[in-house]
Amino acid sequence: MNSSSLSPSILSKLASIVGAEFVLTSNEDRICYAYDGQRVEYLPDAVVRPADAEEISRIMILANDEHFPVVPRGGGTGLSGGSVASSGGIVLDLTRMNRIKEIDLGNLHMVVEPGVITAAIVAEAEKNNLLYPPDPGSVKVSTIGGNVAENAGGLRAGKYGVTRNYLMQLSAIAPTGEHFRSGARTRKCVAGYDLVSLMCGSEGTLGVVTEIALRLVPLPKFRRSMVATFADASTAGCAVSNIMAAGLIPATLEIIDNFTLRTIEDYAHLGLPVDAGALVLAEFDGLAESAVDEEGETGNRVLLESGASGVEFAKDAAERDKIWQARRVALAALSRAKPTSILEDVTVPLPKLSDMIARVERIGRENGIAIGTFGHAGDGNLHPTILTNERDEDEMKRVEVAVSQLIDAALELGGTVSGEHGIGFCKAPFLPREVGVESIEVMQRIKRAMDPNNILNPGKFV
Ligand SMILES: Cc1cc2nc3c(=O)[nH]c(=O)nc-3n(C[C@H](O)[C@H](O)[C@H](O)COP(=O)(O)OP(=O)(O)OC[C@H]3O[C@@H](n4cnc5c(N)ncnc54)[C@H](O)[C@@H]3O)c2cc1C
Repeated sequence: MNSSSLSPSILSKLASIVGAEFVLTSNEDRICYAYDGQRVEYLPDAVVRPADAEEISRIMILANDEHFPVVPRGGGTGLSGGSVASSGGIVLDLTRMNRIKEIDLGNLHMVVEPGVITAAIVAEAEKNNLLYPPDPGSVKVSTIGGNVAENAGGLRAGKYGVTRNYLMQLSAIAPTGEHFRSGARTRKCVAGYDLVSLMCGSEGTLGVVTEIALRLVPLPKFRRSMVATFADASTAGCAVSNIMAAGLIPATLEIIDNFTLRTIEDYAHLGLPVDAGALVLAEFDGLAESAVDEEGETGNRVLLESGASGVEFAKDAAERDKIWQARRVALAALSRAKPTSILEDVTVPLPKLSDMIARVERIGRENGIAIGTFGHAGDGNLHPTILTNERDEDEMKRVEVAVSQLIDAALELGGTVSGEHGIGFCKAPFLPREVGVESIEVMQRIKRAMDPNNILNPGKFV
């Protein structure tokens, strides 16, 4: 059934740009693009699937002429409603642009289109003994375009940094349809305003990314993974900051509280120690075995001195996989526990991690709601996940209070509303609390300058 509210004339112009089979208007198709990984749902008027940058440029020019919104979308795994057409218009599905175009082993870079799945980039790099470090939990389903737009972090961010740290050059289409490029395939580049950084994290509001040159690093040859058990999550949080204070930089340093741990075990049956108050998962990596072993041993000592009741090293690849599988399925496992899950992304300075964990627990208790907490502890980034039922009006009122309190707690501790999931639609009401109305006004001026007709991803944080 075709029930798009775009006029037949606009739909026909879109079809003449991308081909009729790449303009989707049936309810069944549009429903598949009506949501992302968070709790929002808006049906787009149509879904358009361009093949290249030139088609995107022509779509943007048409959208400005005809005044309809365009919402870029990669894998749709975003957790802040960014790829959802909350003001109507078309969803621009970029997954047809999925070519790895070039890998340069001398310059350590890879050139990709925006619709390439992140895991394919990691795999291609590994085939060449290289590493593309950003590693969001959604790595098997998110796209690199979405990662750039959200400045995605992930499990290796503490040591290796986030997506922004691996961008050499971007090509993009401006909201008004012009092609532009920023950065260079060089180790350094200060040619003009840093539009690469402006685009990265702009959540599809300032341009559509069409090509990315990514920096790669040598693949670490050695790894040591370990799991430490703690009596409670706050002590585990202290242990995490002790690890960093000891001068160690684990590639990965994650935390899982008891509630989440039990939910994961129930879901994945991995033989996890469900009686532990919390787990800290750590991995050290590097190019020299002796250095990695030494870091692992020091990490072990610091964890025990910080109150761990036990630390176990992965003895082989299978045990290592089990550790990281436990972490990667955390959100999926929690999502099964109740009809509605609301995932937060608060991030605090490392010495405040333990305080933040205690605040999360208190907020859950005082509002009478279930919160499972896991996260990239080495980055101070927690994902308190509220488990609820959106049909329960009374509980949802308490959930709203709890979300607001979580945000306030993070800000009081010197942290941020979002470490990696972005603001999008869901966190927009909280952004002024962190950056102030003056900063929002500056963001709005940038948006108006680049997108005078407010065509690209309107109704989001800016
Ligand atoms: C199970 C799970 C685990 C996750 N773990 C992590 C994690 O560890 N770290 C982390 O940072 N995030 C994580 N996420 C969130 C999400 O995967 C990331 O934000 C990811 O970068 C989104 O990529 P995507 O391709 O799905 O983008 P989408 O959800 O499709 O879009 C996200 C935003 O990017 C914009 N966009 C997409 N493509 C383009 C483009 N080519 N040009 C311009 N704008 C574009 C969209 O308009 C939207 O605003 C997780 C999500 C899930 C479901």
